[in-house]
Order: sequence, then structure tokens, then C-alpha cells
Amino acid sequence: MSKDFQVVMLASGSKGNAALISTDSQRFLVDVGVSCRELVKRMREAGAEPEQLDGVFLTHEHIDHVKGLATFAKNYRVPLYASEGTWRALWQKYPALARDNCRLTGDSMLCGDVRVDSFAIPHDAAEPQGYSFTWRSSGCKCTYVTDTGYITPTVREAVCGSDVLILEANHDVEMLKNGSYPYDLKQRILGMRGHLANVTAAQLLLHLPQLPRHVILAHLSEQNNRPQLALATVQNILDSKKRLPETQLFVAAQNSIVSDFPLQQLCIF
Ligand SMILES: [Zn+2]
Ligand SMILES: [Zn+2]
Repeated sequence: MSKDFQVVMLASGSKGNAALISTDSQRFLVDVGVSCRELVKRMREAGAEPEQLDGVFLTHEHIDHVKGLATFAKNYRVPLYASEGTWRALWQKYPALARDNCRLTGDSMLCGDVRVDSFAIPHDAAEPQGYSFTWRSSGCKCTYVTDTGYITPTVREAVCGSDVLILEANHDVEMLKNGSYPYDLKQRILGMRGHLANVTAAQLLLHLPQLPRHVILAHLSEQNNRPQLALATVQNILDSKKRLPETQLFVAAQNSIVSDFPLQQLCIF
């Protein structure tokens, strides 16, 4: 990956999500799923200030994606982007949410040198979206897909051609089935609008004509997954088809930042 393109997973998992995607000239955040104070602390650890952000893109209104949003919107004048359905749901939940910087995403929009494409994901929220960021000068593309019940043709198309893919690997199906969650919650997670299993994430990769150079497994469940298990499941499936050498796999973490640059920070196993 070129030096001027950086992905930092500030937090990832069922308890909070935020990712910083940047070049030297532009910085974007996807989701504000930790408290504003924690977000700013982790951004500073990654060498970024909130005022430097060119935009914050929200995937959906679930608390693990918007926990720090109201305070962030009050404290920082950064454009906030989401789908219309997500804004409606957010304003209903948080009537005091400052609205001056709330903007709608189009299917495709330009932010300086970056084209941001949004695409629908199947999840039990109002109008959830994933995002692709493509730097026009370098052609480098980074796609963010979490909280998706299954892989739709739209998701597959959005992921194609990505250099970096942040991909949900939420649970191991057997761990979830045999675990302590109530039946209804298990059904929700396993459902078409739930979360992506390790094995399904691997199947998506396997069927891509070209693998992303970097795949970051994200939104792991603390109860129903383990980083080593998610990694091994995807590795084994890719390896069985001799496709493992095409990509570098990493796992994002809930409680610490995981950065793809310098590379050794990503090699956490
Ligand atoms: Zn969700
Ligand atoms: Zn989530």
C-alpha cells in the first residue's frame, strides 16, 4: 500500500465502531460508535485531529455506530453524511442532535479528490449503507462493509476492485449456535438482515475475480468469535483454493487502534 493511503481501525466490534480512512490531503471517518472523548483520543493516537476531517460517513443508526455522534456534532463542524432513512431514525432517537452539518449521501459524490460511493446493505436498520472511497488521482479504492446479513449482488459489485476491504467477520456460526445468546437474538444475527459469519466473509472473497491487497476483518463479536478463529477460517478457505497469497489479512480490534501503516502494526498475530 502506498504511504499516502492509510486506514486506521479506531474501534471495531459489537461495542463500537469507527474507522479513519485518509491520504495526506483528505481524511474521512466512517461511524462514530465510541464516545466522542474516546474517539478523539484514538484519532490523536493515529496522528489525526477531528477538525482535520473532510467528512464523517455513518452506516446506520445502531448505537455501536453512533454512540459519540451527538457530542461530536455539537463539538466539531465537520460535514456528517448518511442516508435519508438513517437521518430520520437518528433525529427520532436523538431530537437534540445538531442538524447544521447533517447531509445526505448520494449514490456517488465527490469530496475533493475522492469519490465516495454508497451502497445498500441488508441489515435490520432504517436505511443502512456501506461506503467505497476511491482516490481519483491514484485510483486507490477502499470499501467498508459491516453489519450485513448476507452478500447481495450490490455488495459484491461494490467490493469489486477494492485495494483495501474492511469486511465484517462477525461470528463463527457454531460458537453462536452453541453460545448463551437467547434464541431470538441468535436468529436475528443469523438472519438475512443480521451479521456476516466468518465463513460467509471468506466465500465473498473466494468469488471475487481479484482479491483486495489488504483485507481487514471487522466487527467481530466478543461472545461468538475470536480474532484467531476469524483469521484462520478465512485463511483456510482461501488457502484451499490457492488464493491466500493474493492478499494480506488483518483483524481489527475493539479496544485498541489497528493501523495498516506502518505494516508491522497490522501484523498482530
Ligand atoms: Zn447494526
Ligand atoms: Zn454494528
